[in-house]
Amino acid sequence: MAIRDIVKWGTPVLHAPARPVERVDDGIRSLLRDMLDTMYAAPGIGLAAPQIGVPLRVIVIDLSVGAEPRQLIQLVNPEFVSRTGEQKDEEGCLSIPGYGGAPVRPEHVRVKGLDPQGGERVYEGSELLARAFCHEIDHLDGLLFVDRLSPLKRDLLKRKLRKRSKGDDWF
Ligand SMILES: [Zn+2]
Repeated sequence: MAIRDIVKWGTPVLHAPARPVERVDDGIRSLLRDMLDTMYAAPGIGLAAPQIGVPLRVIVIDLSVGAEPRQLIQLVNPEFVSRTGEQKDEEGCLSIPGYGGAPVRPEHVRVKGLDPQGGERVYEGSELLARAFCHEIDHLDGLLFVDRLSPLKRDLLKRKLRKRSKGDDWF
């Protein structure tokens, strides 16, 4: 188990699609443990493997940040089964510390994937949980919440981020 460095906006691995996992083995279970340690230490409510520099389709979500074991979700190769409705609320990202934005997201989602034992799992989520699924699965497609903002807000924020990522305090 280990807390890994979280890579920041501008790092190529965050802006490229991640690869599907071929087999859920001990390597993937060890990756999941590192992702949990890193998410809880941050602290955050979700993390995708590319955020620790690993280009694989693996996500973890825990809205209780470790307080409620039943809320922990660990999914390999997650895919949407359905996305319905619409919501818009403030989001942040551990890879873009200090900035936020409110992208439009579905209100309700169903997501399927594999659990740490390789078994099929289906989850449903509304409100914050739906946003968390969308945010983390976006990471697997190389998208950050910034990319989902209106063109005006997106360009403004990207200009700030470009400046910031050249500064000393970003990494
Ligand atoms: Zn994020």
